[in-house]
Amino acid sequence: MKDSHGRVIDYLRISLTDRCNFRCVYCMPEEGVCAMSHKEILRLEEIERLVKVAADLGIRSVRLTGGEPLVRKGVVDLVDAITKIDGIENVSMTTNGVLLPRMIDDLKAAGLSRVNISLDTLDADQFRAITRVGNLEDTLAGIDAALEAGLNPVKVNAVTVRSLNQDFLAFAKMSIDRPLHMRFIEYMPVGDTSEDGGTGWGKQDVIPSEELFDIINEQARQAGLPELRPAGTSKPLGWGPARYFEFPDAQGTVGFISPLSRHFCAECNRLRVTADGKVRPCLFSDTEYDVRSALREGSDGAVRNVLLEALGAKPDEHHDKVGTERNMSQIGG
Ligand code: SAM
Ligand code: SF4
Repeated sequence: MKDSHGRVIDYLRISLTDRCNFRCVYCMPEEGVCAMSHKEILRLEEIERLVKVAADLGIRSVRLTGGEPLVRKGVVDLVDAITKIDGIENVSMTTNGVLLPRMIDDLKAAGLSRVNISLDTLDADQFRAITRVGNLEDTLAGIDAALEAGLNPVKVNAVTVRSLNQDFLAFAKMSIDRPLHMRFIEYMPVGDTSEDGGTGWGKQDVIPSEELFDIINEQARQAGLPELRPAGTSKPLGWGPARYFEFPDAQGTVGFISPLSRHFCAECNRLRVTADGKVRPCLFSDTEYDVRSALREGSDGAVRNVLLEALGAKPDEHHDKVGTERNMSQIGG
């Protein structure tokens, strides 16, 4: 499936819910978002049917996200159903990790191939301040569980926000002793970016990846550690838009994802579906296509047409747009 800019689109990112057990400062307001009703969100059978139609069109990878995908009832059955769909080669998930220890064995048995866990800091107080309600040890236990279950690769994502003063070297060093792929993501202006009730995103809070790379190497030098070098064969599968480096002899890698300082729109391979069944051609575009009505009232052909319409509307790039109508937890990050 190619879009009008010649890009092959084979990746579908599906938000299972807008609900979450965290309230991260860069993602949603303190009081949470006004949760969608059960009627509004896609039923699991509807998601399965959507993936079947998408697979016929050429989608090969599916990522389940949210909100927190693991709080969605029936998520294990959904993974099981999607992995069995002809044409789907891998099903992955982005999660804050809290529920992984109790769910990972079932998820793996259902066919989940890989997982991205979000973790912005190794400082317990800062973790609480960022997530507003979360405990660091819960997410760390989620990472341990993913490794113990043998999921490969296990990627850990940190959003970098200048005013938070995160300890980047401590995060990067987690790649040394275990096969963890630690990735830094530039803070994106998604959702309400106003100071008044929004995330308060500002350009001054974005740390461009090149600057961050230099900061980490400088901190490594000061700590008597070798510098990062381009990753060799240890680069994780499904490497996507990140650029990977590694410390010599490390088991894992350190990746940089630069949606702002180095647009990777030219390599964009995805469509997104919100929990309430809207196809979004681009994270930064509020233009959405209603696939829920097609799933509820139409034939597979109608579902297919909505996907193709969204595909045709994929913009060439995000043009540094600031702010979107929905916040990240509603779109599915
Ligand atoms: N709850 C899950 C989690 O946190 O992994 C999945 C949904 S969350 C919206 C997906 C990812 O989006 C997380 O890694 C989160 O850090 C990231 N994210 C949220 N808001 C962001 C922002 N403004 N800029 C960059 N990444 C953001
Ligand atoms: Fe929840 Fe993930 Fe958003 Fe944090 S980033 S509030 S864990 S959806």
